[in-house]
Amino acid sequence: MILSTGTPTPSHATQKFLDQEHRLLIDGHWVAPATGKSFEIKNPSDNSTIAHVAEGGQEDINRAVSAARRAFESGPWHTMTASERGKLIWKLADLMEQHIEEFAEIEALDNGKPKAVAQAADVPLAIDLFRYMAGWATKIEGTTIPVSVPYLPGAEFHSYTLREPVGVVGQIIPWNFPLLMAAWKLGPALATGCTIVLKVAEETPLSALRLGQLIQEAGFPPGVVNIVTGFGETAGAALSAHPDVDKIAFTGSTEVGKLIVKAAGETNLKKVTLELGGKSPNVILPDADIPSAIAGAANAIFFNHGQCCTAGSRLFVHRSQFDQVVEGVAEEAKKIKLGPGMHPDTGMGPLVSQIQQDRVCGYLDAGFNEGAQAVVGGKRGDSEGFFVEPTVLVDTHPNMKVIREEIFGPVVAAVPFDDIEEVVQTANNTIYGLAAAVWSKDISHAHRVARRLKAGTVWVNCYNVFDASLPFGGYKQSGWGREMGHEAINLYTQTKAVTVQLS
Ligand code: ADP
Repeated sequence: MILSTGTPTPSHATQKFLDQEHRLLIDGHWVAPATGKSFEIKNPSDNSTIAHVAEGGQEDINRAVSAARRAFESGPWHTMTASERGKLIWKLADLMEQHIEEFAEIEALDNGKPKAVAQAADVPLAIDLFRYMAGWATKIEGTTIPVSVPYLPGAEFHSYTLREPVGVVGQIIPWNFPLLMAAWKLGPALATGCTIVLKVAEETPLSALRLGQLIQEAGFPPGVVNIVTGFGETAGAALSAHPDVDKIAFTGSTEVGKLIVKAAGETNLKKVTLELGGKSPNVILPDADIPSAIAGAANAIFFNHGQCCTAGSRLFVHRSQFDQVVEGVAEEAKKIKLGPGMHPDTGMGPLVSQIQQDRVCGYLDAGFNEGAQAVVGGKRGDSEGFFVEPTVLVDTHPNMKVIREEIFGPVVAAVPFDDIEEVVQTANNTIYGLAAAVWSKDISHAHRVARRLKAGTVWVNCYNVFDASLPFGGYKQSGWGREMGHEAINLYTQTKAVTVQLS
């Protein structure tokens, strides 16, 4: 059954925001799109229209990139001290803190995730990220380097490095964590002194537009942050092919990631960082604490309705505990109440769109046709909204689509294994390498397996633990570069070596 009665209406502040005209933020002003068009934003829990937003296109991207270039080269931003930049970022975080509930409601209505989850995770994580990056602004340092040039005997040099901002950055983000992805992108770019054109996902543009209002209120100079709403094939493609963009930071599907790389290569060889798909293995060793591993396995796949690039979608369990763990995860799935993001009892909301619902159900059908069985779930929800039941699959084999491809929904395939060597090989048998987890009470086993898993993040006895200080990104086709942590700062700066001859 899907919850619906008793769903509260949005607060006055949220409703007021939704009812506004949603334009593009370019050069410090909210402007109408050159296309003259807008598009509807749907609440995925009932397919109702909650807002209309401007449809930015090529010309709007051009205007936004010009504004970002001006702000980078000659606006007040480029002469601002690192301390002033840090203070502005911190101020933005303070302003966000005054609107936590409003942001949570916007995410619940636009993306479908439970408001309580957005309020406990998405919004505080976004605020934290800005504060963490605000601190970095004043700590971006070069080094001094001793040089001795063999063909210039006796000459004396003083050499040092400067870390300079990359420049105008295009950022393209997805719909699964709309506000948090905006923060992951904007935080390090602002800390390093870059200027930005942010292209938000067409499914979920609203929280970034609200953030844009706070960016204005915080007092960032015009053109430092430009926000363009619009579609991937038009606005997104125009940004990734733009000759005056110095870097693209992209989070989304591996297919689109490849298009971004191609566009960069065919134009100005802009730098590219990518955070792409995953098919993460979650490995429960025989000596694991089984109750916490069961709870962790359920969280790994059902958090955010499985719409996480880190989703623990392949669950490997030692044969001796397989039945117990599968039953335990299925029990957890049965307890989850499906409902609108705004309903206080909702444990899992709808998927973000009809397209995603059809896609996930297409994977389920493919799995069943190939012989997989659902221990629990396996169907779309009986509602106008885009619900899919939390699902545990068994009886899969390694060549099935449900094992090889990213489903991006609440669907886990549980697979038994007999020994550690075998499970490490199977876990690594994927084109992806974003995240992985291992559950064990034996620390040597856990560390050994953690070393051998080919993934940018490995969790031991936990899952989906994120922090602004931890570098996040993928091995293999899960991406290029890292977000968050110090590594993100490196990827928004470039190193200049300066050598001075001392006379
Ligand atoms: P998903 O399949 O999860 O929706 P996508 O990779 O399609 O993920 O989308 C992630 C982001 O990439 C969105 O902001 C979308 O508009 C954008 N996008 C989609 N296609 C392109 C493209 N051809 N060029 C640039 N950006 C794109």
